[in-house]
Amino acid sequence: MDWQRLEKIMTETRRDLHRYPEGAWTEFRTSAVVAVRLEELGYSLTVGLDTVDPSAVMGRPAQAEVEARIKRAKGQGGNPAWIDKMRGYPGVVAALKTGRPGPVISLRFDMDCVDVDEADSPGHRPNQEGFASVNPHACHACGHDAHVAIGLGVAEVLMERKDSLTGEIRLVFQPGEEGCRGGYAMTQKGVVDGSDYFLTLHIGGGVPSGVFGLNALGHLPTTKFDVEFTGKPAHAAGAPHEGRNALLAAASAALALHGIAPHKDGATRVNVGVLNAGTGRNVIPGKALMKAETRGETQETADYVYSRAQEILKGAAAMYGVEVETVKTGAGTDARGDAALVKKAGEAARETGLFREIRETVQAGGSEDATWMMRRVQENGGQALYMALGSDIRAPHHNGCFDIDESAMLPGVKILTALVEKLGG
Ligand SMILES: [Zn+2]
Ligand SMILES: [Zn+2]
Repeated sequence: MDWQRLEKIMTETRRDLHRYPEGAWTEFRTSAVVAVRLEELGYSLTVGLDTVDPSAVMGRPAQAEVEARIKRAKGQGGNPAWIDKMRGYPGVVAALKTGRPGPVISLRFDMDCVDVDEADSPGHRPNQEGFASVNPHACHACGHDAHVAIGLGVAEVLMERKDSLTGEIRLVFQPGEEGCRGGYAMTQKGVVDGSDYFLTLHIGGGVPSGVFGLNALGHLPTTKFDVEFTGKPAHAAGAPHEGRNALLAAASAALALHGIAPHKDGATRVNVGVLNAGTGRNVIPGKALMKAETRGETQETADYVYSRAQEILKGAAAMYGVEVETVKTGAGTDARGDAALVKKAGEAARETGLFREIRETVQAGGSEDATWMMRRVQENGGQALYMALGSDIRAPHHNGCFDIDESAMLPGVKILTALVEKLGG
């Protein structure tokens, strides 16, 4: 393998994706870039609607927005034939079947960007070097552009070495990780079923360049949900008693949600992030929309805080005589890496000789929906691992000034391919 050439291609890929970032469930150009490359390499592919269970999809934008994003993806150079094959849902699953007996190993790479504007400051490297986002309110501020570049790098190395591999290798390019929207639908479709091993990693996350974390722990089980309160508009002076005030119901609920009692068995989190209500100054507000999320340290404490939240929403609605409807827009669970796999990953990381420090565990912030895939594989008797690929970063994740250290990507390819070879025996 010509590593220098591979690193150059990966950097170009990452910068191309960085320039054209796409949010959850709209990663059509990104998926097309992945599909074109993997087909060239000789992988057999499943794309789009064939990679998700549509009844398990959460937080997908309205159809009109999806269609507008498909049009944009084609306008920005996304291969139209592949995009049409996706039938409205991004996502790519590639298989390399060696024809020799051996384990099934699935690797997952997430593809979406963050809904944030990229910094326009001249000191921000994507501006200096001409690969800043051209899509408004969309920025690869979590490093998933690097994940896709690493995934394609892994694909190239494994295909070159296919004659010495055994079993089957599956590469899962997942839409909608942000807000935990895509992982569950892919899991329910069965894309990781039959896997003996499941591997994934995240770049950055507070771990600096040259450091590798074998076992990222502490992903918080979470539920994201939209709440719609429907009351009855009325004249604010002439007939206020005939109105039913959705704004007050939502406002009362927001305060009460933040007052949910903590749980003795672990930390919980609640956030009401958006609250919109009302139509006019002199009208009793008939509608209110809330976007909120709950998290817990364990699935049990997360379930506790979510079910309390639902009771509060119903209670606040009853208090003001309005209707309330909740729609889940995302969810993640918890999963722990398997000790045997942590050990193998440690051996592989040491053998690459690329890391100045290897940490047994690192604490992940936030939530992650690869946990559904990990759980599924573990429940079926397989092993799973979530690793942390160190990278110096210029600003915190999800901030418009975020940028990764591109030299951290190649070590990511080397550790993943080394681990696959170790597991494939
Ligand atoms: Zn993120
Ligand atoms: Zn991320």
